[in-house]
Amino acid sequence: MKFATKAIHAGIEPDPSTGAIMTPIFQTSTFAQPTVGQNKGFEYARSSNPTRQTLEKSFAALEEAKHGFAFSSGMAAIDTVMKLLKPNDEVICGQDIYGGSYRLFVKVYEEIGIKFHFIDMQDEEVVKNTLNSQTKMIWIETPSNPLLQIVDIEKMITIAKENNLISVVDNTFATPYLQNPIIMGADIAMHSATKYLGGHSDVVMGALMLNDDKLAERIYFIQKSCGAVPSPFDCFLVLRGIKTLHLRVDASCRNATKIADFLVNHEKVENVYFAGLKTHKGHELAKKQMRQFGGMISFDLKNDTQENASIFLENTKIFVLAESLGGVESLACYPAMMTHASIPVEKRHEIGITDSLIRLSVGCEDVDDLIEDLEEALTKVTLQK
Ligand code: PLP
Repeated sequence: MKFATKAIHAGIEPDPSTGAIMTPIFQTSTFAQPTVGQNKGFEYARSSNPTRQTLEKSFAALEEAKHGFAFSSGMAAIDTVMKLLKPNDEVICGQDIYGGSYRLFVKVYEEIGIKFHFIDMQDEEVVKNTLNSQTKMIWIETPSNPLLQIVDIEKMITIAKENNLISVVDNTFATPYLQNPIIMGADIAMHSATKYLGGHSDVVMGALMLNDDKLAERIYFIQKSCGAVPSPFDCFLVLRGIKTLHLRVDASCRNATKIADFLVNHEKVENVYFAGLKTHKGHELAKKQMRQFGGMISFDLKNDTQENASIFLENTKIFVLAESLGGVESLACYPAMMTHASIPVEKRHEIGITDSLIRLSVGCEDVDDLIEDLEEALTKVTLQK
């Protein structure tokens, strides 16, 4: 099946008991067993639930993976991956990753003896020089959050295979419509389904997709043992969201390309981070490993102050100041105090998250309205300190 057909149909059968086309919300915690030791495939909803099972099949199909798993949040999915490790294991990951991942790694997993190397993964040599006998996992986030850096997935997977590491790609920003890490050879694709897969800012959920049966057994064991599973209703919402994933992502990509061009030419804007720009360091690589450049843009201001960023953010009318991304509605976020507040200020500055950096999640509205909104907010911004 081509992607659009998969998004609408893969993993989904009409309900056998009623013929319902849309997967019912099986709002039940447990399932009747005719006799001891027999069941109809379901026992207790933490282990499995028919609505979740359908969604998990759809997740797997989207990444062309054999197995899909749904979790109660993206962080719960990441937490499950980290539970594959033991004390003294080491992980290589990017320095520009989602702040919540950074917090989980440093504040939870470093506390129990796992070491993380936050490095510039755009540079293959830096990655190779960080490897040692304790390295067990390579964590790839591309495009990265919030600077939209592009990491070469194929090169990272080659390093992982040569060194017997588990390779994981946080594919949240790209979505399975634009980039497929599992097809490229990654062990695990991870998504915050809260974002583009759900697509309507009405649900929090995470996903893991993978091929290896043994690894899938371990993931399933952790999922049912630790219990961070989504509700049947949330599974229904994400199943519904996925049906329009390709349409929404196409619209966001189209809008983002026009908005990036507008921002690049604006006198009050200093840097624009968007892989669709020819001047972006990862442009050629993004062209190779992604089908389009995505709907996320970050930029900062010539007058690089928090006050100036606040003026901008208080004056947009369509772009709403809010955390999160990937919904049909456009959002603006201030990474320094929102998504990346857990990163110490010196570290933030060092990696390029400046005091005026603003991250836009470009939605599916009319692009002329979006540009007008940005234009008006930028007229209020000051050019000089
Ligand atoms: N990964 C990325 C790239 C994210 O942007 C986020 C959330 O913003 C997460 C993971 C965490 O997902 P959730 O908020 O669904 O727990």
